[in-house]
Parts: sequence; C-alpha cells; structure tokens
Amino acid sequence: MDRISLKIGIVFFITILMVEGILFYYLHFSIIHSRIDEELNSLQTRGNNHRDILETSYTPETIHHITTMESRTETHVVITDQKGEVVTSSIPMDQSMQNIVAAAPRDVPRSGLILEDDWRDMKYIASVSPLEETGNVYMFKNTERVQGLIAKLNRHFWLAGILLLSSMVIITLFLSRFITKPVIKMNEATLKIRQGDYSVALPHLGNDELGELGESIQVLANDLNHIKRQRSEFLASISHELRTPLTYIKGYADIAGKESTNPEDRSKYLQIINEEATKLSGLVKSLFELAKMDENTFSIQKESVELCKLLQGIQTKMLPSFNEKNIKLNFICEGEIYIEADPVRFEQIIINLLDNARKYSDAGTKTTIHAFKKRGRTHLAIEDQGKGIPKDDQAWVFDRFYRVDKSRSTALGGSGLGLAIVKELVEAHGGKISIKSEVGKGTIFEIVI
Ligand code: ADP
Repeated sequence: MDRISLKIGIVFFITILMVEGILFYYLHFSIIHSRIDEELNSLQTRGNNHRDILETSYTPETIHHITTMESRTETHVVITDQKGEVVTSSIPMDQSMQNIVAAAPRDVPRSGLILEDDWRDMKYIASVSPLEETGNVYMFKNTERVQGLIAKLNRHFWLAGILLLSSMVIITLFLSRFITKPVIKMNEATLKIRQGDYSVALPHLGNDELGELGESIQVLANDLNHIKRQRSEFLASISHELRTPLTYIKGYADIAGKESTNPEDRSKYLQIINEEATKLSGLVKSLFELAKMDENTFSIQKESVELCKLLQGIQTKMLPSFNEKNIKLNFICEGEIYIEADPVRFEQIIINLLDNARKYSDAGTKTTIHAFKKRGRTHLAIEDQGKGIPKDDQAWVFDRFYRVDKSRSTALGGSGLGLAIVKELVEAHGGKISIKSEVGKGTIFEIVI
C-alpha cells in the first residue's frame, strides 16, 4: 500500500472506530437499561395486579389461584400477612428470597416498590405491592433469565460490531485508494518531469482542487516540452544562420589571400567579406537583444512622447531609402498623440516594420504610416502594397528565424529576427501587434497601445 493512502487510511479508520465505538457503547447501554426497566416495571405491575385481585377477594381460593398461576410462569409470588409471616409462596423460598422479604421497608407506597434491581450480581430482581391491612405481595424473577436475555443482546452487538468493522476496513481501503490515486499519479508525473521526461499525460483527475493541480502539472509539462523543443530548434537555427556567412567569409578570405588574385578581385572579395561580417554582427546584435528580453534584463525607459513628431522624424530618415527603390512613403497623423514610450525602442519598432515594407514591396507602390486615437487607445498602422503574407504563414512570422520566403529574405539581408524583436518590444510597451495581409495586395501591421 502506498504511504499516503496508508496514512489517510489509518486516520480515517481510527476516527470512524472512535465514533462508532462511542455510538455502540451508548446504544448498548441504553438498550440494556430500557430492557431492565421494562422487566422491573412488568414485575411491579404484575404484583400490583395480584394485589388488586386480592383486595377484592382475600380468600384461600384466590390465594391458591394466584400461586398456581405463578408457579407456571417465570415469575414467583410470595404473599405475607400484616406481621410479615409468609402466607403462601409459588416456589419454596430460598435464602435470597427470604433476605429480600426481610429487608423490605415497612411503609410501601400504594404503587409498590422495586426491592432489588441488581440483575448482574443478585439471584432475583424483586418488587413489593402493599395489600391494604392484610400484608404484602412480593414478586420475584430469576436474574438468570434476564442475564440470558442480555447475553443474547450482547451476541447481536458483537456480530454487528464485527460486520461493521470488516466493512469499514474494506471501505477505508477503497476510499483511501480512491482519494490518493490522483496524488500518486501527480507524484509519478512530477518525478518523470524531474528526470527530464516531459511527455507526461495525466488523465482527468476530477473537478476539485486536486483535479486543478493535475491540470496545472499537465500544462507545466507541456510548456516545458514546448520550451525544450523551441530551444533545440532555436540553437539549430542559430548555428545554421551563423554558418552561411562564416562560410562565405572564410571562402572569400582564402581567395583574397592568394597571391595570384588580382587587386581588383581582391577588393571585390574584401567588399563581400565586409558585407557578410556586417550581416553577422547585425545578427549577433539581434540575438543579444532577444536574449536580454528573454532574461528580462532588458529595460525600457518610458517617457511622454509625441507620436506624430517621432513618426515625422522617422519618415524623414527613411525617405531616401524608399526613394531609391521608387516607393512612396506617406504619413498621416491625426492631431497630437502623446504616448508613454521609450523613444529609442519605439523608433526601432517602426524602422523594423518600415524596413520590411520596403524590402517586400516593388517599385511604384506606396507605404503609409497612419497614427490615430480610438476609444482612448493609440493605433499605429504601417500599410504597404507589397507581396503580402500567405494566411498559413501569418501566425508564425513573429517567431524567431521564421521567413516566408527564405531565399528572398536572405538575399534582402533578412535574418528572420526582425518581427520577433518588434513583437517583444511592443509587448514591453504594454501593446499588441496584429497583422492583416493578402498575397499580392499588401500587408498592414497594426500596433495598439
Ligand atoms: P526578415 O529579417 O526575414 O525580414 P522578419 O522577422 O522581419 O524577418 O520577418 C519575417 C518574415 O515575414 C519575412 O521573412 C517575410 O517573409 C515576412 N514579412 C515581414 N514583413 C512583411 C511585409 N511587410 N510584407 C511581406 N512579407 C513580410
């Protein structure tokens, strides 16, 4: 048996045993008590009845009739006269009977008296009923009969007790198993998690607190599993991302270092090496930022920022690169909008989004920055007329290293980390970013703060 169910079982068993013990004792006591009371009462009533008959006719026939009647029953009658002398007795009087008669008080109330009620130790229980002016009627009953009755009752009690006890053992075993089963299952699950195996599948453990705990453990295990998978995927992606530029750098450095390479080619190769190294350092920088965000050591210094002014500045800064690709960059800002933001980080968000709009749009299209307030919230939308993002990919573009079209993105200098950083930054500002896009028509990234 498991330790916890043993513990619960023992506590449960002892508690029930105590409660039932007390109940049984009380029941036993009161049943015996009332049974004896009944016996004594019936004895006294019988004596009173004889007394009533004798009072109406105190004749030798009546006396004879009463004694003969009693000699056929379990009770015995003794009739005495005024002086206490025995007139008649239904059985020959023994010492105990004589003692009881001798010890009887002089003044007996009309309703009679119980003379002996010790059914355990004495030979008889006895009562007396007074005969007006003529003596007393004594009634006796052998206690052996009463004791037999009680012994029978006790036997019933024992039987009931044993039956109850055995059913209690079975119920306790069953119940403690039933109660502790979820705990044991959860314990096994957490042990498995501790050993690094997150493939835990806890069944539904009920709707109570234990059930909730089980669900939490399951969610925890799933999360850990997800994190574990994500981590290995992430590491695989990083090594892959680093390998490509490094291969280029190493290859071109080898050729550039050869004596036979002419100076013109050499400077071209050095140029490529420079570009790849720049890409690499950008990638490392992005990774470092994401790592800081993950660790929560990343801090944003919020201050009151006038959004339209900030956007104006960014537009001016970005215009040349848009012009170069012959893409229009429009800017709509409704009134003055103040937000609590870190200006440097917020600019990074917008530049990343605008960079993407430019990268994934063709010449002759238009990109619009639109900022407005609606129901107390600030909306910032960046809308392009570029190639769009397929529905199936939209949910994943914020994931690290996720690229819809890998070769194109890489060719455009993308690392797949831009939107992941944007999302983290938006959330650090207490905002949300959503995406609306249609392939061939364009994409809208909307930030709501
Ligand atoms: P990347 O550095 O590759 O641009 P991002 O995280 O910024 O990485 O973007 C992830 C992917 O989402 C991109 O590779 C691209 O396929 C897609 N994407 C992002 N912005 C746009 C956009 N404005 N239009 C079309 N596709 C986009």
